[in-house]
Amino acid sequence: MARDIIDDRFIGALHVRALTRAGFDHDPVTEHTAIQAGTLEALMAGGYEGDTTLDEVLRLGDLGIGTIQQLDGELVILDGTAWSVGSDGMVREVDGSTLTPFAVVTNFAPDVIRTVEGPFSFGQLAQVVDDAAPPDAPVIAIRIDGEFADLSLRSVEKQEPPYKPLREVVAHQTEWSVAYATGTLVGFRFPDATAGLEVPGYHLHFLSDDRRIGGHVMAATLLGGRLAIDPCDELHVELPDGIGLGTPGSADRAEIARLEGGTDSAGS
Ligand SMILES: [Zn+2]
Repeated sequence: MARDIIDDRFIGALHVRALTRAGFDHDPVTEHTAIQAGTLEALMAGGYEGDTTLDEVLRLGDLGIGTIQQLDGELVILDGTAWSVGSDGMVREVDGSTLTPFAVVTNFAPDVIRTVEGPFSFGQLAQVVDDAAPPDAPVIAIRIDGEFADLSLRSVEKQEPPYKPLREVVAHQTEWSVAYATGTLVGFRFPDATAGLEVPGYHLHFLSDDRRIGGHVMAATLLGGRLAIDPCDELHVELPDGIGLGTPGSADRAEIARLEGGTDSAGS
C-alpha cells in the first residue's frame, strides 16, 4: 500500500525505503534486506522512545543489534531471541513486547561462510571481513562464532526523561574487559553514505555462548572461528511519527565514531 511508504530512494547501490509503522507491519519477510526501526540521528538527539516492539522487529529478522526503550542496554538478537546487556554488564533475555527506538536486523541468510584462523586484532578483523564480503554489497550483516580474547565491551545506563543527547550519556558509559570468551559477534557494516541514518562502518555487539557476557564491542581479538556474511542491498526503515529519513551521509562521522567508538576501524 503506497501510503505505507514515506520515502523511497537509492543511496548508492542501497535501496532505502522508509515506512510508517503500519507499513512496517505490512512489510513482507524477505532475505538480503536490512530492517531498521528508528534512525541513529534521532537516537543521537535523545529520542530514546520508539513505537515498535521487538516482536514486530523479530518477525522481519532473526539477527541484529540496537538498543531498547529508554536506552536500557545494548541489544543483541541472535537466532530469533533478543538479549539486552545492561550497564551493569548483566545479560538478560528481553520480552517481545519491549519497545525499541533503534534496532537493525536481517533474516540472516549468509552467502559467505568460512573458517577463519587468527589471532586477528579488531582492525585486522575488519579487513578479513572486507576481503571475504561480496565486493558489490552495499550493506553486510555479519555473524562470527568463535573464540575471542581481550574483548573491550560497553553499555549505557537506562535513561529517564527529560532525555540528554547520546553524547552526554556515552560520556558516562560503562566499559569493561573480558580476557577470553567463546561466543558470537553480531552486527553490520553500513556505507559512509548512510551516516546518521545508521552507524557507518562496522557496528558489532557480542554475546557469549553461556549468555553471561555481552555488550557493544569497542575492541576484540578473534582467535579463530566461523565467519558468515549476508549481503543486503535493501534497507527498510520504520519511522516513528515526527522522525524523517534526514540527509544520510551528512552526519558528523567523527561524532558518530566518538559515540560508537571502535567502529571507525579499517575498512569502514
Ligand atoms: Zn552498539
